[in-house]
Amino acid sequence: MSGSAVLREAAVAALRRLDALGLNRGSTGNLSVRDGDGMWITPTGMGADDTGADDLVWLGWDGSVRGRWQPSSEWPFHRAVYAARPDVGAVVHTHSVNATALACLERPLPPFHYMVAVAGGDSVPCVPYRLFGSEALSQCVADALGERDACLLAHHGLVAAGRTLAQAVKVAIEIESLCEVYLKALAVAGPPLLSAAQMAEVIERFERYGQPAVDSAALSAASAPARSPAAVRPARARRPRHAPRPAARRGRSPRPPPR
Ligand SMILES: [Zn+2]
Repeated sequence: MSGSAVLREAAVAALRRLDALGLNRGSTGNLSVRDGDGMWITPTGMGADDTGADDLVWLGWDGSVRGRWQPSSEWPFHRAVYAARPDVGAVVHTHSVNATALACLERPLPPFHYMVAVAGGDSVPCVPYRLFGSEALSQCVADALGERDACLLAHHGLVAAGRTLAQAVKVAIEIESLCEVYLKALAVAGPPLLSAAQMAEVIERFERYGQPAVDSAALSAASAPARSPAAVRPARARRPRHAPRPAARRGRSPRPPPR
């Protein structure tokens, strides 16, 4: 099986997993994977059960399009994320209930829980409402994901990115779950938040997961019973080193859209 075929099979498996977990329903939600000079993206208007590897649509950075279906109508922000973040290999978009509920309040996910750092910062921002499929929405998403691996889209849903498809799916699932907990906490009271220093400590710890070498002192410290849950959590995929920040990124001009 070619590398592209493997990527497409993985994309379909991820789509079905998100559907099975309830993050996507019907034909809502979409995902893409970077493949060389373009991306494979799910087709528009097709449910997870009906989508096979041959139904994915190829969009090249040069504007070329291959496939028997129309690409997801939300392809512009997928392309914008890849242009803004060279380290990103996959983008997942859902209309999952809890992330969307928070997005409909036009509220970000604040540092109420240490796992918010899974998206690479001390919050998950909520970008302003813009029409789906529009260039304006693409710009908002690309700006937000220049700083994080996830963002909420006001009155719309959630976008998550990762170095790999598995990582992007993991971030989407985690953020959806955190939104559920946050909404439950909000129903009682506005929860107190972790400080910038506390979140920086978690982010730094996450950065170190997945490093090739761990010294024995660090291992014994991590296995000591008095450590925090973060310290004894199983190794997780390392958060990608982000691309240059907005000043450098804004200098990159996006390719013309495929037609
Ligand atoms: Zn959407």
